[in-house]
Amino acid sequence: MVNPPNVEVLRSRLKDHVLRNKLKSSSRRELILETLSEVGRHVTAEELLRAVRTRDARIGAATVYRTLRVFQDSGIVAERRFEGGATRFELIGDEHHDHLICTHCGTILEFEDPDIERDQQRVADRYGFELRTHRHELYGICSHCKRNGRTLPEANPARPA
Ligand SMILES: [Zn+2]
Ligand SMILES: [Zn+2]
Repeated sequence: MVNPPNVEVLRSRLKDHVLRNKLKSSSRRELILETLSEVGRHVTAEELLRAVRTRDARIGAATVYRTLRVFQDSGIVAERRFEGGATRFELIGDEHHDHLICTHCGTILEFEDPDIERDQQRVADRYGFELRTHRHELYGICSHCKRNGRTLPEANPARPA
């Protein structure tokens, strides 16, 4: 499993962004960041809004959406659009990670694999390609669902002989 990002680091990164862009400081923004760091990873805007409103019911959807945009601009939140699901948001630190997504229950697992990272660099080099960013999303059935008898529909049913 990948370590969650250090919230103090994210907070200071956000502060830099706020100062640089002469945004007003806002206690709601602080509260939303705190909530996001506590509700777990890969949340939808609606899930975040619900969690935020349990702490301060006066905060509306527009504020949460606007704040997510500020977080993205400051580089502390990434937007993920996994196949067949709502857009999700996660706090990002310095550690890179990729995702395994269960198409049955929607569980999202994070992984970091040095071999994959190295191999993709090798592929990029082969094509004289300067790698900036990448995204691996692996879709399938998680171990929990597999134990409960969920299987993948066969992509290529064997033809009868
Ligand atoms: Zn599953
Ligand atoms: Zn993630």
